Amino acid sequence: MEKRVLVTGGAGFLGSHLCARLVKEGYEVLGVDNFYTGRRRNVASLMTNPAFELMRHDVTFPLYVEVDEIYNLACPASPIHYQFDPVQTTKTSVHGAINMLGLAKRVKAKILQASTSEIYGDPSVHPQPESYWGNVNPIGTRSCYDEGKRCAETLFFDYHRQHGLKIKVARIFNTYGPNMHPHDGRVVSNFIVQALSGNPITIYGDGSQTRSFCYVDDLIEAFTRLMATDDAITGPINLGNPNEFSMLELAEEVRRITSSKSNIVFKPLPSDDPAQRQPDIRLAKQLLNWTPTVSLRDGLERTVDYFRRRLAD
Ligand code: NAD
Ligand code: UDP
Ligand code: UDP
Repeated sequence: MEKRVLVTGGAGFLGSHLCARLVKEGYEVLGVDNFYTGRRRNVASLMTNPAFELMRHDVTFPLYVEVDEIYNLACPASPIHYQFDPVQTTKTSVHGAINMLGLAKRVKAKILQASTSEIYGDPSVHPQPESYWGNVNPIGTRSCYDEGKRCAETLFFDYHRQHGLKIKVARIFNTYGPNMHPHDGRVVSNFIVQALSGNPITIYGDGSQTRSFCYVDDLIEAFTRLMATDDAITGPINLGNPNEFSMLELAEEVRRITSSKSNIVFKPLPSDDPAQRQPDIRLAKQLLNWTPTVSLRDGLERTVDYFRRRLAD
């Protein structure tokens, strides 16, 4: 019998790519989503496939299904969305993790957590290795996300130690690609939508802050490799592309690829915005034999193609 896999947040950006990949590999896939930031259209091409099922459900409530593996991705990921209802964001991370861990415990499923580089906060160590404990404000506007995700990691490791659960914790660094929400507010989608619409490109602060951008296909490859590792491998493990760019460089690259005449405008920097971020991926290279292969230029070109089509709809 095929393996049954649950993907929470299955209609979101990463979740939709993961569901497609798992169906293609022959798994039976159950996507669960409350459609807060996710969309049915992201998985429209899977809806007629008998190996795929989509369920409307909020992970802060218990879920009783029978599965062999769980990828826990449910959680809004962009600052404007996770700060819109911050209490719900913490509940999603914490209650969602408890419910999915409780489910994994009952059905003896392996469970992977989509954690984040926000675990490191505004890092004082650069690049960030998994051993770094982070520099996180516990009471700021980003805290609902950062501390929610940190508590979820705690829960994963306590279920592992206390109940022997098979866990995999992935710390994801900024990832982009098709199926990002056009009004998601994240930098790559914002810049591309602005450039394609001829609107000003909004840089927050002076644009010297850096991020390291991973194309979605590379990340999904790492997810499936991590899930397939020996039970002894729990993570946390950084997943991302170490190529680091300033937001000014990103804006210029997007302008070039879209041949846009949009000018650049500077807006205030949001509070607690990390100044720099770059994954140390030595562990992923060693344990997963994985390294990202898609350059920023190639990844942006594919993402621009997607947004061109979406905006034309
Ligand atoms: P996304 O917003 O597109 O996807 C999140 C999905 O979860 C959406 O479909 C949303 O509707 C759903 N969701 C939110 N709250 C829910 C709830 N209570 N119950 C059920 N579903 C719920 O974002 P994404 O970029 O695809 O992120 C997926 C996961 O990866 C998130 O957990 C995020 O924290 C993590 N992550 C993403 C990135 C990135 O750069 N894309 C980086 C670090 C971590
Ligand atoms: N849970 C769930 N699905 C299951 C099993 C458990 O959603 O198949 C939820 C359940 O609501 C519980 C949580 O997971 O609150 C944690 O479960 P656990 O067994 O760890 O703890 P307990 O049931 O003792 O609270
Ligand atoms: N950013 C920006 N313009 C935008 C959106 C974001 O300059 O229109 C900046 C933001 O301040 C941050 C970086 O881009 O420094 C990445 O932001 P994003 O929200 O994509 O991810 P995160 O801050 O969570 O890494």
